[in-house]
Amino acid sequence: MNDGIPMRFTSQCRQCSKKYAINDLSIPIVGKEPRQRIVELVSLFTAHLQERHPEELQQVAMAVQDIYGLEVLKRFAHEDPVLLNAMNHVRRAFHRTMLGPQASDAYIQDRVARLSLSVEDQAKVLELCKSLRDYLIEAPQKPEAVSQT
Ligand SMILES: [Zn+2]
Repeated sequence: MNDGIPMRFTSQCRQCSKKYAINDLSIPIVGKEPRQRIVELVSLFTAHLQERHPEELQQVAMAVQDIYGLEVLKRFAHEDPVLLNAMNHVRRAFHRTMLGPQASDAYIQDRVARLSLSVEDQAKVLELCKSLRDYLIEAPQKPEAVSQT
């Protein structure tokens, strides 16, 4: 245990490596909601970006503007294919930034090998799993994978 001493974690700027000691959010503070503490952290880091990396904050603002626009546009049905394409572009870009770690080819191969399939079936399942992964993460299509129909 921590003997009553609040645990602290480190948050580090990805641009300049400045470190911040952050109080463990799982330890409640009387009179402060956990969400309020996160909002305060966002303010702290926003101030850092404003002061040291304004170009990063500009990118944040542009991303928020894109998502705001998409959320507004999603509430309407549209016919214009150019608008639909632009919406999909923003959605895909946002989707890619929100993805967690991806299953590597080696990971998939290891999992498929555990199925004790024939070599032929193993190859088919391996390709299926890889294509499903790529579909789900909206990976750019390889030229040979693009349908000619
Ligand atoms: Zn920094």
